[in-house]
Amino acid sequence: MSTLDWGNIGFGYIKTNINARANFKDGEWSELQFTDSEYINMHISTTCLHYGLQCFEGLKAFRGVDGKVRLFRVEENAKRMQASARKLCLPEPSVEMFTKACVEVVKQNIDFVPPYESGASLYLRPLLLGTKIDLGVKASKEAMFLVFCSPVGPYFKGGMTPIKVVIDRIQDRAAPRGTGDVKAGGNYASSILSGEKAHTMGYANVMYLDAAEHKYIEECGAANFFGIKDGTYVTPKSPSILPSITNKSLRQLAEDMGLKIEQRPVAVTELGEFSEAGACGTAAVISPIESIYDLDTNELVTYGKEVGPICKALYDGLRDIQYGRTEDKYGWIIVVE
Ligand SMILES: *Cc1c(COP(=O)(O)O)cnc(C)c1O
Repeated sequence: MSTLDWGNIGFGYIKTNINARANFKDGEWSELQFTDSEYINMHISTTCLHYGLQCFEGLKAFRGVDGKVRLFRVEENAKRMQASARKLCLPEPSVEMFTKACVEVVKQNIDFVPPYESGASLYLRPLLLGTKIDLGVKASKEAMFLVFCSPVGPYFKGGMTPIKVVIDRIQDRAAPRGTGDVKAGGNYASSILSGEKAHTMGYANVMYLDAAEHKYIEECGAANFFGIKDGTYVTPKSPSILPSITNKSLRQLAEDMGLKIEQRPVAVTELGEFSEAGACGTAAVISPIESIYDLDTNELVTYGKEVGPICKALYDGLRDIQYGRTEDKYGWIIVVE
């Protein structure tokens, strides 16, 4: 076992043993190759460098209570990368190749999967790059697929802590017919400015609104939003929201808990009607929201500094599956080793 200080590693890049790669050329994917090199050799005119022809994924492997290592919903990530590839006109990695690369990268870096007690995990970063050398703006018929990993610390040290969120209309994350519904790096590029401003002002996250009317909730930073109201789990629906696998899983668990599920447009004016709210994604599962402040209207909605009971139950329910503390009744887990 690696001797990293698991509780304090944070979310940064840490070198591991091996990463996986495959190349698409002349209409087919090469075999997966495994390497200890952390570098890729790229021509200066490769289109992913110029025109953002790339997409990525993020998922985690967990060492469970029984010592086994589990990957969570990797097939969903594979299918989402295929959807991203289709929208960006990039060659699609097969679900099989994607899954094999993830499983092998975990196996070959097994010493970097943090111990159960640490609350840390192994983050996997699949990446798809358009590698055609060109100057013209057109689809890349060549691509590189890679998967690397890095151990990451527990998102919340010392328990879940609700976050402060700000609504800022300075920047739209994604347009209704743009690339918001796929995991393209460019979506992140267009959220940096507002994200930096929010952090400077002391907020953890920006809440993005729909780009057409600025009336409806889209996403909370790089996470989906949900609110709880009268026994209902409400989460926004829009063509420019990235379909979060965490959100999808929480909807299932919420339904199992007897909550109703609503996926529909959620107006900013409805925020005050929720008893609890959260941001959800692979990184934290749930970041409960303490308050949301609207910079333009000066309205403040407060959910409180305590984690709400439904957020807590949903969080525990999902974590229990990831750490093997409860039955995986939906087949979300691959036991790697
Ligand atoms: C990755 C991502 C999420 C979270 O998706 P998960 O599959 O739950 O990790 C939410 N919003 C955006 C914009 C994302 O890029």
